[in-house]
Amino acid sequence: MTDSAQTSAFRTLDDVDVADKRVLVRVDLNVPVDNGRVTDDTRIVAVLPTIREISEKGGKVILLAHFGRPKGADPKLTLEPIAAEVASRLGRPVGFVPATIGEVAEAAVAALAPGEVVLLENTRFHAGEEKNDPAFVEALAKLGDIYVNDAFATAHRAHASTEGLAHHLPAYAGRCMQEEIEALARALEAPERPVMAVVGGAKVSSKLELLGNLVKKVDLLVIGGGMANTFLAAQGKSVGKSLCEHDLTGTALEIVEKAKAAGCEIVLPVDAVVATEFKAHAPHHVTSVDSVGEGEMILDAGPASVEHVTAKLATVKTVVWNGPFGAFELEPFDIATVAVARAAADLTDEGRILSVAGGGDTVAALNHAGAAERFSYVSTAGGAFLEWLEGKPLPGVEALRR
Ligand code: AMP
Repeated sequence: MTDSAQTSAFRTLDDVDVADKRVLVRVDLNVPVDNGRVTDDTRIVAVLPTIREISEKGGKVILLAHFGRPKGADPKLTLEPIAAEVASRLGRPVGFVPATIGEVAEAAVAALAPGEVVLLENTRFHAGEEKNDPAFVEALAKLGDIYVNDAFATAHRAHASTEGLAHHLPAYAGRCMQEEIEALARALEAPERPVMAVVGGAKVSSKLELLGNLVKKVDLLVIGGGMANTFLAAQGKSVGKSLCEHDLTGTALEIVEKAKAAGCEIVLPVDAVVATEFKAHAPHHVTSVDSVGEGEMILDAGPASVEHVTAKLATVKTVVWNGPFGAFELEPFDIATVAVARAAADLTDEGRILSVAGGGDTVAALNHAGAAERFSYVSTAGGAFLEWLEGKPLPGVEALRR
């Protein structure tokens, strides 16, 4: 499938004339705030192009977002301060409306001139949001002529403002959503082969579905981090005191079998950095995965493993990455993660691979390696990215299909 074919599977801002229309735009403004200050504005910055484009085309922009996990209206979780944060980055006023639905919201929307932008109050102040309650969806739909979803990070939830609205109003993907869907499609749905998946992190149990899906889709599956220990144990190796889900060794073997049947090569660490304590700068040494001592724990992949993975990386065209190779928060057990991340970033810079990464800790690990900005695409979505890796349809995305 070509890029344009993938794009055309979804309705985007290219398919609609927004001039003079009331455009309900679902954005992700659930940013970290400390003492009233936004500590990371990545999500705000990500949705600016969509807001700017609609506004410049003469649409009336009505922003919908959730903030935190309120149980009913909660002044501590008002979006009011966030409106000012959006305005300062957008370079134009963003009015705050202290209501999500009802007369106050309707009056504010009715007063909008083309190009103006407002932010409605936290959608989760209403129980109907998370229940996708038809009455709440209808009350929201009254405020707009069209609906634009630019919040991929919440696309795995079928909530009123992330999914319900798409069935009530003509619905389109915003630019941030579009970029995300296209990057993910290029990585797994219609990738250039060979495709490598790198899956690390703590536990097999939290990534079972993801591994099961990936072995069917990729040519090489590199397993690292704590979860690799369960696979090593399944091969009868001693992993000492390492983080290991011994009760899942059978499951690990099933995944290996599934991979074999699908023609997917599994790559496990061949050596490891071991220590006797789980802490930064704990005394450590490199050992073969065949000779981990009883009192030792594997905290990182060793240099031979890094070399092996890096050599494999040079043979593929596409990489999808989730999870670190070791306990990267504790120096020096970040070395394998940093080395492989930089190797992938170098190959991306050289135009030899497409690299896509995502999921909570992965973004932190790639930032730590100074590699995130050099990857082709880094998804800021946690849960939605993981569900996509698991092969699950994302309701918020599905609702935007033609
Ligand atoms: P996840 O959220 O599943 O991606 O797991 C990320 C966490 O796995 C990070 O906090 C790492 O410190 C941890 N981790 C990775 N490798 C190991 C390891 N060998 N032993 C213990 N924890 C690890």
